[in-house]
Amino acid sequence: MKNIFNLTKEELAAGIIALGGKKFNSAQIFNWLYKNRVETFSTMSNLSKNLRPKLEEEFELSFFNIVRKAESRNEDAVKYLFELADGKKIESVLMIQPYGNTLCVSTQVGCAYGCFMCATGKMGLIRDLLPSEMTGQLLAIEKDKSVKVKNIVFMGMGEPLANYDNLKKAIELFSDSDGIGVNQRRITVSTCGILPGIKKLIEDKLRVKLSISLHSTFDSVRNKLVPVNKKYNIAHLFETLRDYCVSTKFQLTIEYVLIEGVNDGIVEVDNLITLIRKYNLDVKVNIIPVNPVDKLTFSKEEIINLWQKKLENARITSTVRIERGADIMAACGQLAGEG
Ligand code: SF4
Repeated sequence: MKNIFNLTKEELAAGIIALGGKKFNSAQIFNWLYKNRVETFSTMSNLSKNLRPKLEEEFELSFFNIVRKAESRNEDAVKYLFELADGKKIESVLMIQPYGNTLCVSTQVGCAYGCFMCATGKMGLIRDLLPSEMTGQLLAIEKDKSVKVKNIVFMGMGEPLANYDNLKKAIELFSDSDGIGVNQRRITVSTCGILPGIKKLIEDKLRVKLSISLHSTFDSVRNKLVPVNKKYNIAHLFETLRDYCVSTKFQLTIEYVLIEGVNDGIVEVDNLITLIRKYNLDVKVNIIPVNPVDKLTFSKEEIINLWQKKLENARITSTVRIERGADIMAACGQLAGEG
């Protein structure tokens, strides 16, 4: 039996026509599944009585099992632990914000890329998530908390662009107006710099935002912090980011975890400004505190202020990220799906 939540509307339409139904039935079913959130085919009352039992025979409706959840002290983040059908575990984080809730979605069980300060990277890659296992995180959390998610960030466990085909389908499912209906502009894909994946986003004309975990503009430093840099170096990365900005006209986010004595020197911020200008990038630089996964120290306040001043003088927007959920190990780089 096929899990219906893995199918885009077009794929579902093909399946329904094969069962003797009509193409428009797929939009009706999407409405039932993703808007009305029904859990049986028999409750889909506007489908013909002949079609409903055929759907039951052909498709599986499976839902997520919440193993545990933890709420942060100031109630601005909830971390969920889910068990998948094969017993593997993943985590997602709901960030509760005045301007709309954001869901941090996982895309893989574990991750192959081994970035510094990342608990998921220490697990190694176990497997990719299916589209249904990405949308399932949102469906389960919205039901559990009776909330609506406004923004989606693919920033949970895993490297989204290393699971591109399933990610693409999940983006289609999240943004389908007959389904969950999150505007693609409210979806952000975060990557450590998988260049073929960024190129595919451009080719496929997905109108999602991109966030790049940069952390250094020197290959010698970035090779250690983000090992994939040995394969896709700074020069190639910036060329690809320029192509993304030209093609989408979207502002790119550059993530920079500042670590005292490692990547917080003035030479780093000067080189960052030089590269942003050289490649004519429209960017926002997001400075992030180091979280206590490893014994690393966040840069001193005067260094952060100096970075912000230099970026401001260069007319580059910068923010210092307020970390939500560090007390429940739900902040950036802390997800590890431990049961
Ligand atoms: S930061 Fe992202 S890409 Fe890097 S190891 Fe962690 S999950 Fe993988």
